[in-house]
Amino acid sequence: MPPVPYVYSITLRTRFRGITVRDGVLLRGAAGWGEFSPFWDYDAAESAAWLRAAREAADTPWPAAVRTEIPVNVTVPAVDAERAHRIVTASGGCRTAKVKVAEPGQGVGEEIARLEAVRDALGPGGAIRIDANGGWDVDTAIDRLRVLDRAAGGLEYAEQPVPTVADLAAVRRRTHVLIAADESIRRAEDPLAVVRAEAADVVVLKVQPLGGVWACLELAERVGLPVVVSSALETSVGLAAGLALAAALPDLPYACGLATAQLLTADVVAAPLLPVGGAIAVCRPVPDAAGLAAAAATPDVAARWRDRLAAVSTVNA
Ligand SMILES: [Mg+2]
Repeated sequence: MPPVPYVYSITLRTRFRGITVRDGVLLRGAAGWGEFSPFWDYDAAESAAWLRAAREAADTPWPAAVRTEIPVNVTVPAVDAERAHRIVTASGGCRTAKVKVAEPGQGVGEEIARLEAVRDALGPGGAIRIDANGGWDVDTAIDRLRVLDRAAGGLEYAEQPVPTVADLAAVRRRTHVLIAADESIRRAEDPLAVVRAEAADVVVLKVQPLGGVWACLELAERVGLPVVVSSALETSVGLAAGLALAAALPDLPYACGLATAQLLTADVVAAPLLPVGGAIAVCRPVPDAAGLAAAAATPDVAARWRDRLAAVSTVNA
């Protein structure tokens, strides 16, 4: 086995969140493997929560599971309609699709075509949600939600249509589409501001940026709104922490965003956490030598991550 901390680097199937390669560090401790993979645009202070999550995974047992499988959504990046259709059809039976919108450089016509293709692939019984990553202003959001709700044949919810809590609250007052908060929870000084402002119907929780499974479980209790557990585009090591959170939540009314191993061209485990029949079985796969070798970063990238890990460790100390 290669030395730990181990640094991986994996090409994405499609450009996503502006990146084409995902990389990060895997740690190993008494409790198992943990993943530390903040995106490169996050500074050391913001990455501290990500490292707490990785250390928790390595050192601390996760909470007990109350379910054995987690329904998941397929994620459809900002691709053309034909590709979107294929992604949904090849999703391992997912009955919910999350479709990226508000991609810079794209227009509403491409979004309509993408949503129509996803509806066609899912059939009338499937659920479609969109994620704008805060890319609209309030008036644009109101306009787009009306148009895209129609194109999708009904939206389950719209994730972070606008960037701020105040804007989310303003949008929520003017649309019948349910509003989910993502960035307003995980990149906020105060994740409960969303609740006080009545800015969301649903909250998206991600284990790494929120500092671990236990911290998310506690936050879910304080928020008191339905929770959708989503990944930060991790390997199956990081995804397992999301599965553990989803498995431990008392209620899980929506499909979770944990089927993102599909977006990677490789993984560090022999059997990546992929959906079967639209759900992922709750388990914790262990990296194997072949997977680690296949996903190993170049010495340059590995050195950058070791520096970063050291810098963020200082913040957490
Ligand atoms: Mg999101």
